[in-house]
Amino acid sequence: MLIIMHVNSTEEQIERVKQKIQKLTLTPHVIPGRLRCAIGITGNSGPISPDHFKNLPGVVQCLPVTKPYKLISREVRQEDTVIDLDSVRIGGKEIVIIAGPCSVENEIQIFTIAEKLAKMGVKLLRGGAYKPRTSPYSFQGLGEKGLKLLASVRDKTGIKIVSEAIDSESLDMVAEYVDIVQIGARNMYNYSLLKKVGQLNKPVLLKRGLSATLEEFLMAAEYIVCQGNFQVILCERGIRTFSDYSRNTLDMNVVPTIKQISHLPIIVDPSHASGDRKTVLPLARGAIAVGADGVIVEVHHEPENALSDGAQSLYPMQFKQLLIQLNQIASIMNRECSLQR
Ligand code: PEP
Ligand code: MN
Repeated sequence: MLIIMHVNSTEEQIERVKQKIQKLTLTPHVIPGRLRCAIGITGNSGPISPDHFKNLPGVVQCLPVTKPYKLISREVRQEDTVIDLDSVRIGGKEIVIIAGPCSVENEIQIFTIAEKLAKMGVKLLRGGAYKPRTSPYSFQGLGEKGLKLLASVRDKTGIKIVSEAIDSESLDMVAEYVDIVQIGARNMYNYSLLKKVGQLNKPVLLKRGLSATLEEFLMAAEYIVCQGNFQVILCERGIRTFSDYSRNTLDMNVVPTIKQISHLPIIVDPSHASGDRKTVLPLARGAIAVGADGVIVEVHHEPENALSDGAQSLYPMQFKQLLIQLNQIASIMNRECSLQR
């Protein structure tokens, strides 16, 4: 159930509706918007009667929410969610570019890459410190040392940082250092971890699970949002299909579909979708053309020596090409991409 309040309803009126919801042992979620204020209700097992609310002052309408995902849906909030990180806004008019190596490997590596990217105008640096690797014998990341290196890159360059938490313990550590917490594809179904990031006051980049349906993906976002954290950025990173010529199959269709269903921003990761730097650029172009709010791309100054995902990492010069081309596509899409210098 969604309660629509008058645009200029008072705080007391909103408070009264919230109290009524709590009295019914349900949970209210106030969702302010430019055009209207809505109050979502969760915790009910069956339909809720509008009679409880329809005569309360300030209430305009009581709408049933028909989908299993509620707080993330456009039914509940019509305007796009824009996540504001001071130097960059995600989900607004600007296309956001997150770039950097798969893993933070050492001080020279991360500073070399970050400085090249910052010079090109990149405002968000990615780099894994905790790596969920398929093989237990592969490089597992530098842990806190990697986060400290990212933080010192931010101090020096002003670039904001994105890094993955792989479990509850690493989340405490990652959240201390980063500007955006990444939840990787393998953890999209980790509901206790999702609940925990839902309690943070920090943006979360949620990647689609390897075989997640659209509904499972959106319900994972709902897990985070219903804990109170509305700052969720969805990320399509390719899914498992019978198609075996690329690392994963990029589901482009999901981008415009999610834009219709949800108010959350959605970006695309062409690197993990492709697995091969030769096809990263065309996939990135496609992502912006289908309406994604940005891309997250792996870049390495020496991909042949990378400790993870070297084959899909772009050389800095290739990345520069990507920026130039995404700028052109952004303008066709009536969006901005204030990069390349
Ligand atoms: C990553 O971003 O390096 C990563 C491991 O991605 P995913 O969770 O999409 O596989
Ligand atoms: Mn990677």
